[in-house]
Amino acid sequence: MSALFGRPEPRPVLDGEYPHWDEALAVVNRDLAATLPDQRPLRLIAHPDTEDLDAQIYVAFSPRELHGNSLIPAESAAEALTAVAEAAQDTVSERLWRAWPVCTVHDLGMHPRDLDGRPSWWCAGGARRDAPAHVRAAIGELDTIHQPRRPHRKRPKNRRLR
Ligand SMILES: [Zn+2]
Repeated sequence: MSALFGRPEPRPVLDGEYPHWDEALAVVNRDLAATLPDQRPLRLIAHPDTEDLDAQIYVAFSPRELHGNSLIPAESAAEALTAVAEAAQDTVSERLWRAWPVCTVHDLGMHPRDLDGRPSWWCAGGARRDAPAHVRAAIGELDTIHQPRRPHRKRPKNRRLR
């Protein structure tokens, strides 16, 4: 694919240009930081597709590397968060060649689902009766299941054991 001469290049979205998606991406970036702490945060990238249409917005690490589909305007904050999580998942998986995020119970890639207005990471489970599909965490809350282990944590001294 060759770029047309003089055509505007993909660029990072400016502060305040797409506040709802900015907000959603900040939430998804929390999950990225909790699970892949060495990764840079994802950014919103505007791709001026044609002169007639509005820019297409991608979730990417850099304007030079766009993966997956552009975002489709959302009708609610929950829908926006689910869409941004899907786009982030595409970008991270394609960039790193691995499933993201992974359910730590079943070692499976999870998927964003809007469950009654609560965007969540959903895992297909182990496909057995004792390992059904389940919701692992709300989007933005993967840090709650990826806490670093604290082997040196001491029991509070004054706590009475019964
Ligand atoms: Zn699972």
